[in-house]
Amino acid sequence: MELLKGKTALVTGASRGIGRGIALKFAGEGADVAFTYVSSDDKARELEEELKSFGVKAKGYKSDAAKYNEAENLINDVVAEFGKLDVVVNNAGITRDGLLMRMSEENWDDVINTNLKSVFNVVKAVQRQMLKQRYGSIINMGSVVGKEGNAGQSNYAASKAGIIGFSKSIAQELGSRNIRCNVIAPGFIETEMTAALDPEFIKGWLKDIPLGRPGSTEDVANVALFLASDLSSYVSGQVLNVCGGMQT
Ligand code: NAP
Repeated sequence: MELLKGKTALVTGASRGIGRGIALKFAGEGADVAFTYVSSDDKARELEEELKSFGVKAKGYKSDAAKYNEAENLINDVVAEFGKLDVVVNNAGITRDGLLMRMSEENWDDVINTNLKSVFNVVKAVQRQMLKQRYGSIINMGSVVGKEGNAGQSNYAASKAGIIGFSKSIAQELGSRNIRCNVIAPGFIETEMTAALDPEFIKGWLKDIPLGRPGSTEDVANVALFLASDLSSYVSGQVLNVCGGMQT
């Protein structure tokens, strides 16, 4: 269908999981794709080749989204290489789970910096280019946990709730320049992140999913495609749950 033909997209944290699914979906729809990772060099090289096989331009950047200067350099490099940047998906994220009683300051800071500060870093850096273009779609990866909370994930829930407040504010600040900003809030999606969870905990979650199955990276990528494309040209400041109908 080529819903993204002529567009350039950046996906952070795309060497694995949801980010990888989104990068592949975007390339399959005709977008040139830049993506980032922090440690998975081999997986990033493989992804770059896979993306190019769609006949689009693709490049992986080793760049820590939690670091302000790295995000700024990243955006400058991507714009220099690709000429423009229409779509940004802030997907990079980590968990450092634990009850508050046992949560270290480091676990708090790591999650807030990687999940929330990263979104500020990248959006702050890309806004100049998008303002110049008078066009942009920013998609930030939240979580249903950011709406509902979750025992043992207070750091993660706070980071994802912060993303919602930030995104709604940016939608208001930049809307007059045709820049949209939305949040995807996945529920339980099968990736390496959720593979680390206790199977008993997963069983409990599955009970609460009306569609009766975990989500796939494809399920999330399809919603990202909608938000990235002009099909969603009048959608901004929204949180779209991709959670199989879980109550939030
Ligand atoms: P994942 O499989 O653990 O993959 C995480 C990706 O983020 C990897 O590509 C990783 O790169 C990258 N990354 C981590 N820290 C980074 C940093 N500082 N800078 C740049 N990239 C970084 O995770 P996932 O399950 O796909 O989750 C992706 C996003 O969806 C996260 O924001 C997560 O919170 C959110 N989410 C996931 C679920 C779920 O059920 N899976 C549910 C709700 C929300 P390396 O490979 O180089 O480490």
